[in-house]
Amino acid sequence: METIDWKSLPFGYIKTNYNIRCYYKDGKWSEPEINDSETINIHMAATCLHYGQEAFEGLKAFMGVDGKVRIFRFEENAKRLQNSAHGIMMAEVPTELFKEAIVKAVNLNKEFIPPYGMGGSLYIRPLLFGSGPKVGVSPSDEYMFLVFVTPVGAYFKEGFKPVKVQTFSDIDRAAPLGTGSIKVGGNYAASLRALGRAHDEGFSTALFLDAKEKKYIDEAGPANFFAIKNNTYITPKSTSILPSITNMSLCTLAEDMGLKVERRPIPFDELGSFEEVGACGTAAVISPICQITDRDTGKTFSYCQAGNAGPISTMLYNRLRAIQLGEEPDKFGWNIIVS
Ligand SMILES: *Cc1c(COP(=O)(O)O)cnc(C)c1O
Repeated sequence: METIDWKSLPFGYIKTNYNIRCYYKDGKWSEPEINDSETINIHMAATCLHYGQEAFEGLKAFMGVDGKVRIFRFEENAKRLQNSAHGIMMAEVPTELFKEAIVKAVNLNKEFIPPYGMGGSLYIRPLLFGSGPKVGVSPSDEYMFLVFVTPVGAYFKEGFKPVKVQTFSDIDRAAPLGTGSIKVGGNYAASLRALGRAHDEGFSTALFLDAKEKKYIDEAGPANFFAIKNNTYITPKSTSILPSITNMSLCTLAEDMGLKVERRPIPFDELGSFEEVGACGTAAVISPICQITDRDTGKTFSYCQAGNAGPISTMLYNRLRAIQLGEEPDKFGWNIIVS
């Protein structure tokens, strides 16, 4: 292994030593296999390639202040992958197998876990897809479950800095009763054009409106949306957003900190009344938002004073990080220790 410069680690892919693979065939899963290749060999008629039978997860392992390695809320990721599998008719990965595969992947690549204090973590990417051949449209009889890991650096290189986002009404990522609530690759394919355009036009991400009426906030490309006002944490309720585990955790922490929590539709017109807004997900925990601009009307809402995140977003961010790093007691039982 080449020496890694932990301080300048990007949020990208770096080769590690091993990945874990399980195969579903004749109605049952194989034992997890250790593999040292970065490539996979699958049938050209595999359903993942033609009909989008593919779902993934994203979670992290952290080197704690006490030198122990923690994985955050893996049971929720296992459950969500089962929902995704159910949603597009794939074989479900049992929670025990999911756990065994991710723990193996972390343990076999220990030297790639960024040291405590560098802001990095070991990103875990479980992947499930239809690997058997079909030409007619129907679910595969065979599936592959793969877990790879890659070290990632701090998401915010210059610290916890607010970003600008864009709303628009000409692209949807998911239909109201479609696949928006499961973590399937197709949703990402559908979001790429809007994300690319938002970047080109100077925004850090796209904020999708509800697909039916374009009246409510749905979510940011790969992250949920939340807002703070009147001591209340507010996050959208919608059939087409992905239930973020980070968001779920922030709701719990907000309540624990004495805030009220509301899950309800958030009308676009309410954006002007919020004190703080942000996007949340595993990659960054929280991306504070300092500006939301509507592409159609040019209407702009601004939030952060002097380019800084609001006090409640900052507190929530710090507490979640502290739990993940073992700096604060894990009072909700969110971590497992793997070594
Ligand atoms: C993965 C994902 C999120 C974030 O979920 P976390 O569990 O918090 O990482 C949010 N939105 C979408 C569309 C996602 O795919």
